[in-house]
Amino acid sequence: MDSLFSRTFHKGPGPSRLFIGGVHGKEGETTFHALKSFDDRALNSGELYLYNFPPSPYISTLERRYYDSSTGREVLNLIKKIQPTIYLELHCYHEKNRSHLIHHDRKIKIGVPPLVELDKGVLIGSVSPIIRSVFFENYDFPFILEIPCQPSDDSLQVYVEVLNITAGSKNRIEILKKLELLYPHQVIKLNKYFIDFSDNFLTLFQKTREFALNGDLKDSDDLILFMENLMQELDLNLNQIQLKQVRAAVLIFLDYKHPSVV
Ligand SMILES: [Zn+2]
Repeated sequence: MDSLFSRTFHKGPGPSRLFIGGVHGKEGETTFHALKSFDDRALNSGELYLYNFPPSPYISTLERRYYDSSTGREVLNLIKKIQPTIYLELHCYHEKNRSHLIHHDRKIKIGVPPLVELDKGVLIGSVSPIIRSVFFENYDFPFILEIPCQPSDDSLQVYVEVLNITAGSKNRIEILKKLELLYPHQVIKLNKYFIDFSDNFLTLFQKTREFALNGDLKDSDDLILFMENLMQELDLNLNQIQLKQVRAAVLIFLDYKHPSVV
């Protein structure tokens, strides 16, 4: 099945939003239906771009090489072109992977906090820190939403509700306030992960980016050395996997957002 799909809605001045699905593997076959059924009545101002990709090799969005793949490059080009302040990446998961996605050890194992279950198997979390730090301001809303690849009607209902809230709000604060009314405990967790990200990952990224721009960078090992020293100096809390993710983010920044290429 060709799950390529795109649509654009314009409703006057307002924020720019991008919802994409099918970022890797065959996820687009599920997210296609969810995006296609989106009802633009939920949107009252600004712009919304919907985009669904056809199947591609499965590479995790936590790996830099994903953003070297053709779909990964397309994702980054869309983000760069549209510059969304509200960004939703739609994924789907198989039941056997569910425990990995919500496991409390996820940060130790793969560098990112667990996803949080809203309801009926619909999971929410921040997008890959590799792009979160490079392409979004701290108070933007760049999130991923995961649903089962064969979703029940109940799951789809929760999913569509979150899409509608996201499309019908102007900014991060408004979206989280609305979600908080429905899912108070989940939003507390999301806020906790956000603070951890801002204090540690984002701080290290910003300082390392500065170093890379001003310094005389010989190779990417220089970056790791610089980061290790800075982490000690500022007492930051990141593990080795996260350190490599910060390096990947800085290298993507140099490729896509370096002042000389913007
Ligand atoms: Zn996925």
